[in-house]
Amino acid sequence: MIPNVDNDSLVYLNGELVRLGDAKISVLDRGFIFGDGIYEVVPVYHGKPFRIHEHLARLQRSLKKVCIETGKSDADWEHLLRDMLKRSGLADCTLYLQVTRGVAKREHGFPTDPCEPTIFCMVSPFARPDAKKREHGYSVVSMPDLRWQHCDIKSVSLLGNVLAKQFATDAGVDDVIQFRNGHLSEGSSSNVWVVKNGVLIAPVRDEFILEGIRYVFIQELAQKLGIRFESRAILQEEVAAADELMLSSATKEILPITQYDGKAVGNGKPGPVYAQLRAGYDAAIAAL
Ligand code: PMP
Repeated sequence: MIPNVDNDSLVYLNGELVRLGDAKISVLDRGFIFGDGIYEVVPVYHGKPFRIHEHLARLQRSLKKVCIETGKSDADWEHLLRDMLKRSGLADCTLYLQVTRGVAKREHGFPTDPCEPTIFCMVSPFARPDAKKREHGYSVVSMPDLRWQHCDIKSVSLLGNVLAKQFATDAGVDDVIQFRNGHLSEGSSSNVWVVKNGVLIAPVRDEFILEGIRYVFIQELAQKLGIRFESRAILQEEVAAADELMLSSATKEILPITQYDGKAVGNGKPGPVYAQLRAGYDAAIAAL
């Protein structure tokens, strides 16, 4: 019995539908042994996946970067996800998809004998960020980005992200903002946005951050709303002096950061650029 999950819900594991509480993988699965795998999280609103094609394109890019071959096309993945969504009967939920290199003798190099990737999919209920989070915003602390240098790969090796999130919890705040060599990278599981003098600024989409599906979506929203957008290296001092800070992810959507290292961001309340982007985000969800 796994606490806090619906043990009776059905998950997909290597072509079979299994009760979540009964689903098992081999102890020699390379996902378990090495964190050798890729994942995706697709948010679903009133039964409609949000930006599913963008998520699947990123999945394929990540798989390619780590040389995991599944032989599955975007259409195959989409079929699998939509089928699981339908079976779940859930309206607001997340589709979680994980692919590992498979089961093999424990050796670091890629297996030379044929090795089928392990494919796992589960559908979980999802509650959108509530009014409290939207109105009060997040508190964050800064910390050095101690992760590896392939943060563009959506790898299941998330120990660095796990430790970053725990750093926030231990500090009594909601999340962290990480810095590499004095420059903003991202949150523990989100992209970070800075507003200065009405300009929306985000770090360059390079190997030091995950190319969030919301990164592109918010960039598009900004363009539609007439908000000037810049993608460039952002100094730690600029973050500390920002008019507004925000973070974005599949489950957090877009949220204001109102406290940074114990100090108020701007006037300590969600700002006008956030309000515009939040309204645009809500409208896009309503129009799905
Ligand atoms: N960076 C990291 C490290 C993340 O884990 C996430 C969430 N998956 C993001 C950024 C945001 O990506 P997305 O908008 O696709 O959820």
